[in-house]
Amino acid sequence: MFYLNAPIFRYEKPQAGRLREHHQFGMECFGGKEPTVEAELINGLMTLLTELGLKNLSVHINSIGCPNCRPTYHEKLKEYLGDRIANMCETCRERFEKNPLRILDCKEEKCKEIVKDAPAIIDCLCDECKSHFERLQSLLSAQGIPFQVDSRIVRGLDYYTKTVFEIIMQSGREGLALCGGGRYDGLVKELGGPDTPAAGFGIGTERILMELKNAQAEPAAPSVTDVYVANLGADMAAPAFTFCQALRKNGVKADCDLAGRSLKAQFKFADKIGAKYVALVGGDEYERGVVKLRNMATKEETELALDTAAEEIGKLSE
Ligand SMILES: [Zn+2]
Ligand SMILES: [Zn+2]
Repeated sequence: MFYLNAPIFRYEKPQAGRLREHHQFGMECFGGKEPTVEAELINGLMTLLTELGLKNLSVHINSIGCPNCRPTYHEKLKEYLGDRIANMCETCRERFEKNPLRILDCKEEKCKEIVKDAPAIIDCLCDECKSHFERLQSLLSAQGIPFQVDSRIVRGLDYYTKTVFEIIMQSGREGLALCGGGRYDGLVKELGGPDTPAAGFGIGTERILMELKNAQAEPAAPSVTDVYVANLGADMAAPAFTFCQALRKNGVKADCDLAGRSLKAQFKFADKIGAKYVALVGGDEYERGVVKLRNMATKEETELALDTAAEEIGKLSE
């Protein structure tokens, strides 16, 4: 499942640089328990951000275990924190009993200093969690995705299990977390649904727009038209229109003139909307029962039989 521009409202006091109301887009995968799910999500996310024009991205991953192994880690962590907790911030002291994992995430300098040497959860994982995490790492390596294991990533939400990840963008010496996600195998059941493994991520739209602006990245506009159908004169507007509809029926993103443009103006328009091909309907070709297809990048032209052309082009664009 994916969602675009979902409005999100923050309940708590928003941190600096965060908006009370913002929009998110994200992907969620339900029903897959294998680490290929996380690999696919991370891959999709990295491809998207890279294609938008963001650079210096890397993936930070961690595993925070499952209900079988996390309690053991909690004990170990609490043991380490022991007397040290007295020197930590109020939030951390509150979390000590309820959710000690979140202490690793604290942004207070004095707390960061203390947790630096805390035991890492990946050393306490059960066999299943350990194997899952190792397999994820091999999948990411095989795809050539730069990643590092970062034991400080726990994500702010308590429902995560096994994998958690963040996409970090290096800007100057600082690494900024752009977005994050993880696996939440217990959440669907906890909310009253069937026992369903799941994983996903979300990104703030405004945040990404801001970073694109900072990076002066200008994403290419997506092409919405594969074939623009041009007519050679007003009497050919109807056959051109019919051919355009036939292309659409065959799954081709097609468009045609609706404004009575001259041929020259139609070509100009086709260029403007980034059409990959222009199909010419009319003239001597039409008499012969063919349509001429011009590749706008190479200027190469081919002739196709008018009555089967839409189907043929449809097969090409599959
Ligand atoms: Zn486990
Ligand atoms: Zn703290």
